[in-house]
Amino acid sequence: MLTIDRYLRPETLEEAYEAAQKKNSVILGGMMWLRLGNRRIGTAIDLSALGLDKVEETDDAYRIGAYATLRELETHTGLNELTDFALRGALSPIVGVQFRNLATVGGSVFGRYGFSDIITLFLALNASVELYKGGVMPLSEFCRAGMLKSKERDILTCIHIPKENTVVSYKAQRNQKTDFPVLNVCAALNGGRLSVAVGARPLRASVCLFDIAQDNESETIAERTAGSLIFASNKRASEEYRQHLCRVIVRRAVDEVFAKSADGGIRSGKPNPEVI
Ligand SMILES: Cc1cc2nc3c(=O)[nH]c(=O)nc-3n(C[C@H](O)[C@H](O)[C@H](O)COP(=O)(O)OP(=O)(O)OC[C@H]3O[C@@H](n4cnc5c(N)ncnc54)[C@H](O)[C@@H]3O)c2cc1C
Repeated sequence: MLTIDRYLRPETLEEAYEAAQKKNSVILGGMMWLRLGNRRIGTAIDLSALGLDKVEETDDAYRIGAYATLRELETHTGLNELTDFALRGALSPIVGVQFRNLATVGGSVFGRYGFSDIITLFLALNASVELYKGGVMPLSEFCRAGMLKSKERDILTCIHIPKENTVVSYKAQRNQKTDFPVLNVCAALNGGRLSVAVGARPLRASVCLFDIAQDNESETIAERTAGSLIFASNKRASEEYRQHLCRVIVRRAVDEVFAKSADGGIRSGKPNPEVI
């Protein structure tokens, strides 16, 4: 059971940040994950008075506030057009509409869950996170970090999605509808650069980068991606099955991206992914 001693709804980010540094303080997202825990929270910090629930568009990016819900992204016209509706495809299998009306983007990204659909998608889209004290950093760096700088507990304020990817494909495999994914893959082609993110391995998602002037055969790209990432077993799937799935799903996603892209992008060459 979750027990909360004190509830705080700060009016500034600084107030929220200061409260978050205290032992047993917890930032609240939609509480969909937090509520499952068995713990005593000293101060529960609700960020809902800070205007972090907006999705804003600039000339070159979307700025998604940490308190925007998964459902808001799933139904957002501009973000779905930008991602070839991959955003809707990634989010709509997560539990149910009522759940996605509560789960927040901030909680989903800050939790850095290995199975996360949204992190896999955002990594391929070259997203950055904005932390109140830590500033802006690439999501790939944020996901790699075991712990935030100097043990401070920072606040994720928003996610930046650059308006740069032209063609996107998102695919996930689940043993059954609404379950956690066994593997998820997002391929995004931006000019000559192909990003292939693979998550739920069940480790946190990583992204492989290919230059399609040299690396352009889906089968080889899939083979190299599966060969360069680490997979593991859990109750949902074995390491071997995940690696096999990776080859299949990456090939399908890359084929889809190439087929959708204006010039097809299929030339010959050897993939040599840089894993980040
Ligand atoms: C049963 C179940 C099934 C799920 N299935 C999937 C799935 O298939 N695919 C998928 O991708 N996800 C899945 N999820 C995860 C879900 O989508 C959310 O990511 C998760 O619930 C966290 O979001 P939340 O807003 O509820 O965060 P909370 O539970 O409120 O918080 C999660 C963590 O993030 C911290 N936090 C929240 N907001 C901030 C912030 N702004 N700054 C700093 N720290 C913050 C909290 O302190 C906490 O540690 C599932 C979750 C559950 C419970």
